[in-house]
Amino acid sequence: MAYRSVRGMRDLVGADAALASHVGNTLIAVAQSFGYEEIRLPLIESAELFSRGVGEATDIVEKEMYTLSDRRGRQLALRPEGTASCARAMIEHGLLRGQPQRLWYAGPMFRYERQQRGRYRQFEQVGVEAFGIGGAAVEAELVQLANAAWRALGIHRHVSLEINTLGSGDARAAYRAALVDYLTPHVESLDADSRRRLTTNPLRILDSKVAATQRVLEGAPQLADFVDAPARAHFDALRALLDDLQVPYRVNARLVRGLDYYTDTVFEWSAGAIGAQDAVCAGGRYDGLVKRLGGAATPAAGFAIGVDRVALLCQEAEAEPARRPVDAYCAVLEERCMAWALAATQQLRELVPGLRLRLHTGGGKPAAQLRRADESGACWALIVGAQEVAENRIAVKWLRESRPQALMRVEELAVLLRTGAPVPERADAGGATGQAEQSASAANALAGN
Ligand code: ATP
Ligand code: MG
Repeated sequence: MAYRSVRGMRDLVGADAALASHVGNTLIAVAQSFGYEEIRLPLIESAELFSRGVGEATDIVEKEMYTLSDRRGRQLALRPEGTASCARAMIEHGLLRGQPQRLWYAGPMFRYERQQRGRYRQFEQVGVEAFGIGGAAVEAELVQLANAAWRALGIHRHVSLEINTLGSGDARAAYRAALVDYLTPHVESLDADSRRRLTTNPLRILDSKVAATQRVLEGAPQLADFVDAPARAHFDALRALLDDLQVPYRVNARLVRGLDYYTDTVFEWSAGAIGAQDAVCAGGRYDGLVKRLGGAATPAAGFAIGVDRVALLCQEAEAEPARRPVDAYCAVLEERCMAWALAATQQLRELVPGLRLRLHTGGGKPAAQLRRADESGACWALIVGAQEVAENRIAVKWLRESRPQALMRVEELAVLLRTGAPVPERADAGGATGQAEQSASAANALAGN
């Protein structure tokens, strides 16, 4: 019997894995450059955290959550998103009493959705959250952070930003009532999902992509007309900051986002180039969430980026970094040289930080070993035979340039490997890419630990 991965849960291998790591590491490096700190959250939470935090009448809770009960019958959920967990952790550890918290998290999320391009049941997010900070400045910072990430990845020309304000809770309640009054007589013209939402989560109807529903919505009352003066001033302040920063955006009065916890500002970046599932980043302000989860009222704002979709966009935009999984490949011509080769290659790894050096094992003819070296993508083949061992040297063959072979001591070779490596990164990539490769915590986080 052949096993296959579960529907919607993908394996990423080779270039796909490398690209997903590159995207994740770059996003993390940019978040760190803004002074955001890592928070590592569990994959499993109590199901109630999400039904309470995200909202009963949201897509996530109504139909997308992976729930399970443990041996004692407790209702648990594989986390569908990170914000509620993050708020839970802040409250649980009493971290909201003192100064504000700026945090990032990375890792897999789970939603039972229909699998398609850009929509999976296990997908990866990198999110940032700022707790304890009201006002528009931190929202502008979040926008700036996302923009810095797009630039570092070389995809800034392929994304566009939409923003909106939901106003205060009261404004939203008044608008919700007005929207229901308007839509109720048109109920027959709405799609089935929207009809159901009319009683559960009417604001979500604004998000509908069904043409008939969109036609009905054309005459609907506008959320903007219900937003009260303080919320309006808040939104204007954000717009003024974005204008000053020359960040392009569009105000979309229909943008409401699917989660209950948002208040005031909401935003979303999309990238048409990746197809129908085009949202790559979404977030906003959620001043009510901490209180809703039992903490003291705390202003907060954040966003989450979908790593899988950003990786698709990098492919579409041809912004994939050159992939070089191996810098050097060491061939071992005789089995009796193996102990020497194992020691010498390890010495090289210690002398050259970041070196990716693969040792050939399993023997074979020299030509076959060199073919393997070439296929590995390495720039250099290192060759260890009886003569090299006797002379305490390693033969070096340049695989990507025509240069004569050389014989070097380990120390000399280390200098070559440290300084002679061709730089594979794209010229237009920002500094963040370089930093990303050095961030071990980032690499661990994305490995799903
Ligand atoms: P969508 O409208 O596409 O369903 P969403 O509003 O449910 O997105 P959020 O909960 O805001 O998404 O999550 C933030 C980001 O995570 C999205 O913008 C998207 O890039 C990514 N994302 C969400 N769901 C999935 C999924 N099932 N597969 C891949 N990426 C996803
Ligand atoms: Mg969704």
